Parts: sequence; C-alpha cells; structure tokens
Amino acid sequence: MRKLVFLFLLGYFSMEVLTAQSIAKPDVSKIVLVVHGGAGTITRQNMTPEKEKAYTEVLQQALQAGYTILKKGGTSMDAVEASIRIMEDSPLFNAGKGAVFTHEGKNELDASIMDGRTLKAGAVAGVKSVRNPITLARKVMENSEHVMLTGEGAEQFAKEQKLEIVDPSYFYTEARWKQLQQAKEGEKIQLDHSGDKGSNNEKIFTEGKKFGTVGAVALDGYGNLAAATSTGGMTNKRWNRVGDAPIIGAGTYANNKTCAVSATGHGEFFIRSVVAYDISALMEYKGISLQKAADEVVMKKLVERGGEGGIIAVDAKGNIAMPFNSEGMYRGFIKAAGTPSVLIYK
Ligand code: ASP
Repeated sequence: MRKLVFLFLLGYFSMEVLTAQSIAKPDVSKIVLVVHGGAGTITRQNMTPEKEKAYTEVLQQALQAGYTILKKGGTSMDAVEASIRIMEDSPLFNAGKGAVFTHEGKNELDASIMDGRTLKAGAVAGVKSVRNPITLARKVMENSEHVMLTGEGAEQFAKEQKLEIVDPSYFYTEARWKQLQQAKEGEKIQLDHSGDKGSNNEKIFTEGKKFGTVGAVALDGYGNLAAATSTGGMTNKRWNRVGDAPIIGAGTYANNKTCAVSATGHGEFFIRSVVAYDISALMEYKGISLQKAADEVVMKKLVERGGEGGIIAVDAKGNIAMPFNSEGMYRGFIKAAGTPSVLIYK
C-alpha cells in the first residue's frame, strides 16, 4: 500500500514538472516575433511596386502565423517554425520552394532551429526533397540524439518522421533558374577577364549578390527565446557547399540568458565570424545591450572582414535589433499589440 501511495505521488509530481511550462500562465504582453527574408542588393531602383507588395504580404503572413501562436500562449519554438514554413512555401524567398540553384541545376536546402530554454538545437544540410526543411531540423532536435543530419541520411530520417516529401522539381522557379544562368554567365566573364580557371569562387558568389534566406526569432509569454533559419544557400554553389544557415552559432543561435539570432548574408564570412554566437557572447561576457552587440558584429567586425549581410535578433527582455550592412534586408516584427511592421530598405 505504501509503495502504491509512493508511486502515485511520484507520478503526480513528475507530471507537475512536465506540465509546469504548459500550465504556467503566459504573459502574452511580452511576446515578440521578428522575421527576415534575406539581405542583399535590394534597392528601390531594382524594385517594382508589385514586387514590393508581394514581399510585404508574405512577410506579414509569416508574422501573423507566428503571432497567432504566441498570442494564444504557444511557444517561441512553434512560432518561429510556423513563420518559416510560410516563407518556405512562398516562391519569393530563397528557402523551400523558390530556393536558388546549384551549379548543377539542383536545389540543396539547409535549415536549423534552436531552443533558448534548453539550448537544444537541430539542423539539416543539403536536403533535396523535403518540402519544409525547418520542420525536419526540429525533428532532428526532438526525435534524434543528433544535432545535424545531411544529404541522403537526412532525407531518410525525414521519411521515417513522416514529413512531406516532394519531387525535387517542386522547388523550381523560373526566376531562380534565370539567376543561375546569369551567375554562370558572370563566371564566364570573370574567367575571360582574369584568366582564372574559376578557382576564386568567392567572386562567383558575390557576382550574383542574390540572397534571400529566411529567418525568425521569438520571445514567448513564458520568457523563452527561439531562433530558426532556412535557405537554399547561394546561387551557383558547388561541391555540396554548405553555408552558415544550418550551423548553430553562425547562422542561428538562441539562449534565454541573452538573445535569439538568425542571420542572412555571405555564409562563408558568417561561419568564420561565428556571428550569431558572437552577439550572444558579447552580451553575456561584456554585459552590453543587444543593439550594441549586434552592431559590433554586423556593422564593424563583418564589414572589416568583407562579409555582407545582416541579422535579426530579440533579447530576453523583448528588445529587437535588425542591423544589416548590405543595401537592403527584408525584415519585419510584431509585438503584443498585433500590428505587423515590415521594412525592406535602409
Ligand atoms: N547565408 C546564406 C548562405 O550563405 C545565404 C543567404 O543568407 O542568403 O548560404
């Protein structure tokens, strides 16, 4: 009998611990969600009113999707995933449908997600048939003992997790196909002028200057942060090149003690500068504000090193930072009041 009572109490208390987060009353007045749709050569001159409207609408939808979850007392993890899925499904962004093409004319997708409460993370790289790579990254975090899966293994895991698998042709868009042809042209011109046999692939990448990765960071009503990033990488990439987006600490990072960050830009520079983690570390070790830390990394360190791009971030108090050193960055945020704000240019 005593054993039974003990077991009952044990069960009761472990339930308590398990559901503590779900039954704690969220303070939805604190919620914040920030999204980006990539940085790069985005200027008023090369934009049409129609294009601007189309981008704004999808960014607003992405904000709305995450906001609805946060407002109902949902988690920041659910919110960032929902926002990213909207942008992955849109052909406008370089993630999911609409991803850029590799040199061989394929789409290879990278994504990652991090939970600032537990510091758990999941990532995938080089997947070719998973409709929503961000959901696969989350499954890696939650249902495997690993952090990052790549290529065919990642796809097999996606099938086992019963995620939606699509024919690779699903990701095709004419605009991205043209972009690849242009990048290849550029490469040829580059070769003709320099006599270089194409070994300088940093030049090949920067020629196109077409970024368009998507990202989301959020603070939920429980005070928990989350960050997520999804991309097709860079046009004309070769040799299974992987950028910063799926690399925890470079393209994505979240820690309840400091902030949640998602990056976009020339991945090689973001990897070498460990951008997302550097912002968090500056806050933690130097005790400086999110804005100061983000500016230090994006507007100073990256600029000195020649790394073009930007980041979005939110800290544990709900402060936002969205610095970028490129001409533009698709970005937007929404707070408790529920009015989405979308910006594109400097
Ligand atoms: N950071 C991405 C990469 O290097 C590209 C982008 O942000 O558009 O793969």
